[in-house]
Amino acid sequence: VPLVLTDFLDRAVSLYGTKEAIYCDDRVFTYNQLKSRVDRLSHGLNRLHVQKGDRVAYLAPNTVEMLEGFYGVFQVGGVMVPLNIRLKPEDYLFILNHSETKVLFVDQELYPLILPIKEKLSTVEKIIVQYKNHDTAEIGYDQWLSEQSNEKFEKVELDENDVCSLLYTSGTTGNPKGVMLTHRNNYIHALSIQHHLRVRDEDVLLHVLPMFHVNGWGSPFYYTANGATQICLRKATPESIFHSLEKHKVSIMHMAPTVLNTLLQYYEQNVPQIEQEVRVVIAGSAPPPAFVTRVEKELGWEFIQVYGMTESSPLSTISTIRSHLKDLPLKEQYRMKAKAGHSVIGCTVKVVDDNGDEVEHNGKSIGEVVTRSNGVMKGYWKNEEATMETIRNGWLHTGDMATVDEYGNIDIVDRKKDVIISGGENISSIEVEGALYDHPAVLEAAVIAVPHEKWGETPHAFVVLRPGQQLSEKELIQFSREKLAHFKAITGVTFVEELPKTASGKIQKVHLRNDYWESEG
Ligand code: ATP
Ligand code: MG
Repeated sequence: VPLVLTDFLDRAVSLYGTKEAIYCDDRVFTYNQLKSRVDRLSHGLNRLHVQKGDRVAYLAPNTVEMLEGFYGVFQVGGVMVPLNIRLKPEDYLFILNHSETKVLFVDQELYPLILPIKEKLSTVEKIIVQYKNHDTAEIGYDQWLSEQSNEKFEKVELDENDVCSLLYTSGTTGNPKGVMLTHRNNYIHALSIQHHLRVRDEDVLLHVLPMFHVNGWGSPFYYTANGATQICLRKATPESIFHSLEKHKVSIMHMAPTVLNTLLQYYEQNVPQIEQEVRVVIAGSAPPPAFVTRVEKELGWEFIQVYGMTESSPLSTISTIRSHLKDLPLKEQYRMKAKAGHSVIGCTVKVVDDNGDEVEHNGKSIGEVVTRSNGVMKGYWKNEEATMETIRNGWLHTGDMATVDEYGNIDIVDRKKDVIISGGENISSIEVEGALYDHPAVLEAAVIAVPHEKWGETPHAFVVLRPGQQLSEKELIQFSREKLAHFKAITGVTFVEELPKTASGKIQKVHLRNDYWESEG
């Protein structure tokens, strides 16, 4: 039996038909209602001649329209192309033409981003505007959906190795690449993560990560499969998040550490008013160790770190504490959770040196992370060369550097491109950032390599201070020298109002490097 993602919705409908599946804005939908919308959508796509393998793009925040799109598109055998809502019109032009998208669904609020490029879209045959439909010449989604047949849709037969999505990478290091993920990739990934998070039908997930990004993209599958309730927010702000936690008794969230940071700050200012029952929060992208302790102690949420990338559906490791290690001192456990953790089921992870040999598991030796799993992409869309460079002999080369400790926990040290090489020593920008976050006046920090006459490169920090706090460059340099080996200490600081971030909340060091060069003339 091929592993096809529509199984998950079918299961939920048969077991949880009358249960609340999704809350979105002021609307609520049961699994039966969701399925009937999905069927109408599939009928509609059929009438637009979307066939097996055709690309259907979505430009939308987290909404029910986006979520039903997943299953509606899969039922006709289509390929979903979710678009990052924080890009520029030219970026959309590139991705829509590059992916040869046939139908585009766009949220009304984002439609102005498409208008300037509309005439240049070479393959898009239909644009459908979702939710509200004032002042646009295109057909409105609600009306369009209501005009479609309400009969059960006969699904197009698929093979598990058929592509289900073209996900463009974050573009943290350059131009985004179109990652082809298959039904099998996402299916096995969902089962694996479900195992580790033990999602239950009484769980309530608040979507904080955008669904157009791979981390948010993967989660609807295992929450749907388990009949959990999902909450969509158009805009995730500390206010809207805490409001939802109370209103919906949210039990689980996935987010970037940068967002978690804003939540902690908000919480500290509003503690007494907030009632919530969150059981666990999951974050990737190297949260500083100080976060883990604060999240667990102050908010009372279990913290789990995960590591992954678009190319592997995404997750390869998870930092849950195995029961036989629960006797370790709490401090040690927190330190463990601040690492990327151990491999998820179905994924083999190795950290290898330049000869391809595994590095020693001593928490010190650094190598590149390579993974092999059912989650590894089919390849980059229309980019054979990059595919061959990334997947070699069946191993996905992540471009991320890490150490492994004696328990087998992987600790991401840095991206290969972000490692600072100073006097022949490798310095992890992530480690330096972790030390800066220990300073009470520091709200956010990002460290990059800048040239140094004597050492080749040296760490330079970009720092956002907490509101009302003052700190001089000299003080922070001194602080880093107390916290770190001297060669790892920062030698310069640029104080900024905010750090450039991707829509998924990652700090874009590419932009910081440009900023540095501009300011240096
Ligand atoms: P692009 O490939 O276009 O430059 P990107 O690599 O940021 O963008 P994603 O696939 O969204 O695109 O992100 C994957 C990357 O995020 C990983 O390769 C890694 O560098 C980083 N990352 C993910 N999880 C963690 C983690 N737990 N700790 C440190 N880094 C992480
Ligand atoms: Mg990448």
